[in-house]
Amino acid sequence: MSTKISQTAEVQSFFKQVVGLDNDAGSPRMKQVLLRVLQDCATLIEDLKVTDDEFWKAVDYLNRMGTNQEAGLLVAGLGLEHFLDLLQDARDHEAGAAGGTPRTIEGPLYVAGAPKSEGFARMDDGTDPGTVMMLHGQVTDTEGTPIAGATVDVWHASTKGTYSYFDQAQSDYNLRRRIVTDESGYYKARSIVPSGYGCPEQGTTQEVLNYLGRHGNRPAHIHFFISAPGHRHLTTQINFQGDEYLWDDFAYATREGLIGELRFIDDSSRAKEFALDVEKFAELKFDFQVLKVTESESEQRSKRPRALQQV
Ligand code: FE
Repeated sequence: MSTKISQTAEVQSFFKQVVGLDNDAGSPRMKQVLLRVLQDCATLIEDLKVTDDEFWKAVDYLNRMGTNQEAGLLVAGLGLEHFLDLLQDARDHEAGAAGGTPRTIEGPLYVAGAPKSEGFARMDDGTDPGTVMMLHGQVTDTEGTPIAGATVDVWHASTKGTYSYFDQAQSDYNLRRRIVTDESGYYKARSIVPSGYGCPEQGTTQEVLNYLGRHGNRPAHIHFFISAPGHRHLTTQINFQGDEYLWDDFAYATREGLIGELRFIDDSSRAKEFALDVEKFAELKFDFQVLKVTESESEQRSKRPRALQQV
């Protein structure tokens, strides 16, 4: 069998030249990563006999995906974002830093700078006719000690399955709040029960999922960042027991330990306890346990570019 062209010294040295290993400028890290990307792409093209038509179709796809702003959706759908969680879990396990509420993917729809309040927030602007949801719980460390002053940064979709900022029909920061826990570590929010949602049907992510014979749906969920001085930042989501897509999420975010029970209540005295003007509502209690920090870096969320990052 003849030598693979992608593996010849000539091609390998060509790629090293392409990534600038023959100069001292630029970024050594980018050179290292891009060299591997080129080597792996070349090997894949040769081994799988990728045709010119397939190659240019992929290039066109990248252009269209960028125009659609769907790269963040694609990495979720291809399980790469979930893989980052599996990798970090394994690293934590090795470092003896396991425990606490499980992490899961952030997804591409966070917006920085949501209104901040102490102990309680109303998240919806009153225009969504959805079922009122009282979401509450306690933030503690892994020994159960309450954490006062933790920030619960919470965001979720509307009953139409869309998010404010990305859905211009919603008011600014609708269904997005930062709630600082009270002296007992409690947070409480009034909102509406969110719906699940799917990838845009004509979008570039669904286009790939169609090739894979997969749907692009997510179960209903609520996103959280939990942060507190001296504790590790937690990025997570909770899903609802009984959702048809609970274990069939196109983004693979569902995890044991992250399933909440929405309790539908029709009781005026319970409604009064929550100072609600409706008798029928849903209650979701969810507590979070965060780890004590081992290195200052992990108090912070990743530096992933996000909407309104500078706010
Ligand atoms: Fe989401």
